[in-house]
Amino acid sequence: MDKIIIFCEYDFDKNKIKDSSYELISKAHELKKNARELLKDENYNYLTEAVVLADEIAQSEIEKAYKTGADRLVLIKNPIFRNFDSIIYSKAFVEYYNQNPSPWILFPATPATRMTAPRITTLLNTGLVADCTGIDFVLKDSTLKLAPTRPTFGAELMATILSKKDPQCATIRPKTFEIKYENNKEGEFLKFDIDIKETSKIKTLSTIINKEENSYFKDAKIVLACGFGISGDNGIYYKKVEKLAQKLGAKIASSRKAVDYNYMPHKYQIGQSGENVAADLYIAFGISGAIQHICAMKNSKTIISINTDENSEIFKYSDYKIVADAKKIIDELCKRYSIE
Ligand SMILES: Cc1cc2nc3c(=O)[nH]c(=O)nc-3n(C[C@H](O)[C@H](O)[C@H](O)COP(=O)(O)OP(=O)(O)OC[C@H]3O[C@@H](n4cnc5c(N)ncnc54)[C@H](O)[C@@H]3O)c2cc1C
Repeated sequence: MDKIIIFCEYDFDKNKIKDSSYELISKAHELKKNARELLKDENYNYLTEAVVLADEIAQSEIEKAYKTGADRLVLIKNPIFRNFDSIIYSKAFVEYYNQNPSPWILFPATPATRMTAPRITTLLNTGLVADCTGIDFVLKDSTLKLAPTRPTFGAELMATILSKKDPQCATIRPKTFEIKYENNKEGEFLKFDIDIKETSKIKTLSTIINKEENSYFKDAKIVLACGFGISGDNGIYYKKVEKLAQKLGAKIASSRKAVDYNYMPHKYQIGQSGENVAADLYIAFGISGAIQHICAMKNSKTIISINTDENSEIFKYSDYKIVADAKKIIDELCKRYSIE
């Protein structure tokens, strides 16, 4: 049976698999349906295998991995993994992989995995499509090929890149996909004890937990996003949206142009050079819908856009489009919620 491997990252402080890994497990599970349709074979299946490098793994995490779509969870086991070292991680994974190969490997594009994935693909003598914002399968010569998509040419275009070599590998930006708890089948748990003779050249002197590491947009349900269309008036409309967000328990977000013109701080920027978000509700006030913005918010469940231009690109991705002056709508909302 074919198999897709998800290289999972373990958070040793919280004793859990990171959400960015669960996002990929869910997506890999969901893509089985696409694979069946492409192959026109309703019985086709592949194994979704989540691979974790750690010394132990909490039982609750094993169950969560099954629920989110893993058919198998493999623990590559050694205490050395508590101290992250991309050289040791990559060699250990490759040792496992060579005994348990698969045609496809997905990695979350987190800082640690961005260091490890290229080492792994170099050792496996294959390519890596990095920092993707979408993933699917296509059929080529009657074979399923991994089809990752990423912005390219200065982020002017979205390119779907097929690897010529196997395994076909991609790193995917966190928050590109939703974690779904849709798998009711109990999976299989395997341990792969690994003997590592090498000592790490990296010495951990101290660990400082970056409190801001968790994106401002983590778990955002409602996002109010401000574009350049509400600029001018000394930036008062950005302040108004900020107050609305506070009132509604929403997160405020921004397009890059509003950041470039100093209306908004960079930490609020959504897009190719900012954060990814998959909110329940994303409301865009005066955003044109450039590809670099869309790629990072299009997975929100409901998108409402307000734009004066009825042909604006963002409407193509919106569930509800409102052709109107966003400033007037913001004023109305402020009135309704008694915001000065
Ligand atoms: C390498 C690279 C990386 C990039 N990364 C990012 C990124 O991470 N995030 C990002 O957002 N962009 C990014 N960009 C920039 C992107 O290409 C766009 O320039 C930017 O998203 C445009 O922002 P905007 O839609 O707010 O402004 P504009 O393009 O100026 O659009 C403003 C919109 O508001 C509408 N409007 C005007 N007045 C009103 C009104 N009163 N009411 C309602 N609508 C109104 C207009 O019709 C227009 O559609 C990147 C570009 C490059 C080259």
